[in-house]
Amino acid sequence: MSAADKFANWWTNRHNYAKEWKAKTGGKVIGYFCTYVPEEILIGAGVLPVRILGSHEPQDVTEPHIFGMFCPFCRDCLAQGLKGRFDYLDGIMIAQSCLHIRQAYTSWKLHVPIDFSYYLCMPHHVQRPSSKPFFRGELEAFQKSLEEWVGKPVSNQDMEHGIEVMNRNRQLMKKVYEYRKLPNPPLTGLEAMQMVVSSQMVDKEEHNKVLEEFLAELPDRNLDRETGTRLIIVGSEDDDTEFLKMVESVGATVVADDHCTGTRYFWDEVVPNGDPLHAIAARYVDRTPCPTKDWPERRRFPRILQFAKEYDAKGAIIIQQKFCDPHEADIPPLTAYLNDNGIPSLFLEFDVTVPVGQFRVRVEAFLETLGQEDLF
Ligand code: SF4
Repeated sequence: MSAADKFANWWTNRHNYAKEWKAKTGGKVIGYFCTYVPEEILIGAGVLPVRILGSHEPQDVTEPHIFGMFCPFCRDCLAQGLKGRFDYLDGIMIAQSCLHIRQAYTSWKLHVPIDFSYYLCMPHHVQRPSSKPFFRGELEAFQKSLEEWVGKPVSNQDMEHGIEVMNRNRQLMKKVYEYRKLPNPPLTGLEAMQMVVSSQMVDKEEHNKVLEEFLAELPDRNLDRETGTRLIIVGSEDDDTEFLKMVESVGATVVADDHCTGTRYFWDEVVPNGDPLHAIAARYVDRTPCPTKDWPERRRFPRILQFAKEYDAKGAIIIQQKFCDPHEADIPPLTAYLNDNGIPSLFLEFDVTVPVGQFRVRVEAFLETLGQEDLF
């Protein structure tokens, strides 16, 4: 099986993977709701972190528990818990994020029996000088709670091991992303997404080995397809592989992204400084921000533009999960900012109950517009 197939297989069979990991190692598995959760500490404690994501199926189990006008992604995640799809989890946790995902976490905690749960107070206003010392203190409290739960100390050495494994994973994925800059990238946007999302749910050391295999394959990999128009995708949580398949079947290749299932998750490394908790706190405070943490500076805008330029994207698809307020507030200024800098964009509103086919015509029209711009 090729490395890309292994990523896709992990993504498709993520629940089986976690169950087999538990049976093999006897370790605990924790489900996490947001990429601000410091996996370094969990890995240091010998726990497998598994990101809770939805299944993209219409569902009717969340109505009594979460408002219908909360984002479909959050409702889909909660539905997975209520339906017992994550019945192998020993614990759940969240780092303070938007209101909607917090509600999904709280409802899960209330209605799905679980041994351990933790709400980590990640500061919203990360620009404040007090954010790093504050978050370090919160991480220390979390470390103590985790130690009680796993029944053993989580030493500085353990956390340094977690940092090393996570940083290696980040470095390898960044190397893979370098190949997306080529005129004919040897991997599709779909494969890149499957690579990143699978890293959020399997043992990172195992993932690192397959990343190394992938890097060995990429120089000789030749996809039997036209690259077409190069695009960057930006916005709310997005693990919609059907959407990517559709975009890449109509004359485009997604070459870069700003998603928490992409670069926002892995781009920034922990810089070791002798105090693992402080180094981890600094990484999460300074990382490419989610809009819930990016107000009022909007530090991610120049980073998105830099990605668009470096990866030679000719246009952007801006995705908003329906009702996602943090991203919605960014869309008018982001659209103007990208447009002013030569990157036209297409805005799409996502909802798991809406078939992907309705976007096809709009994506094709957008690509046609970009093609016409090339003529002038
Ligand atoms: S998509 Fe938006 S509303 Fe939904 S969890 Fe993410 S930030 Fe929150």
